[in-house]
Amino acid sequence: MKEYRFIAETPSAKIVVCLNYIKVSAKSLIPYENNNSLKIRCEQGCQNYNNKWSCPPHSPKYSVISKKFNNAYVFLFYCHLEQFSYIKTPYMKIRVANSILKSRSDKIIRQLEKESNGKMLANNSCRLCKECSCKTKESKCKKPSKLRFSMESVGLNVESIAMDFFDHKLLSYSKDNVPLYSSVVTTILTNEIIEEDKINELFLNMGIEFYLA
Ligand code: SF4
Repeated sequence: MKEYRFIAETPSAKIVVCLNYIKVSAKSLIPYENNNSLKIRCEQGCQNYNNKWSCPPHSPKYSVISKKFNNAYVFLFYCHLEQFSYIKTPYMKIRVANSILKSRSDKIIRQLEKESNGKMLANNSCRLCKECSCKTKESKCKKPSKLRFSMESVGLNVESIAMDFFDHKLLSYSKDNVPLYSSVVTTILTNEIIEEDKINELFLNMGIEFYLA
């Protein structure tokens, strides 16, 4: 599998981000759907549960949302934390790395989604509004056309997908265990074929330095 890299420029440093992607059939992700364990994890461990329209119990199952699509393009973005030597604490290194990965991948994949008439499964819960109208008990989402569900929220086991498709272990952070790298995974469901040239062109048009590793 090819690995690409691009430079994420921040006010303090130029961070190298690694990118891998794979095309599979949309159906082939269905075995990674596990709504029971997800329900328990979200219900018991996440403050977004029932407080965001993008999250359970409001999010659809993957097997339902993927029905009208043939292809799934799964993207893995990651960056090594050693690049953040200018930041003092491990916790802040992770926060900055995650913020870079999530913002860049969201921007890139949303653009690719538009160009492929697809549907993005995002890397996080929806953050488009300051406060989700679900939390304030309004009757519906304020920006339904822009709302995207995350891979986790539709029931997908992202750890297993990263391992099986990219041989990439998602590492978690704890005080005693600072990971080597931070990662995000996101997907586009589409009926079109996204050629490699299209991705190259997209990066070029976005003014992002992009190269084969
Ligand atoms: S667009 Fe706004 S209202 Fe809709 S899910 Fe996202 S944060 Fe909530």
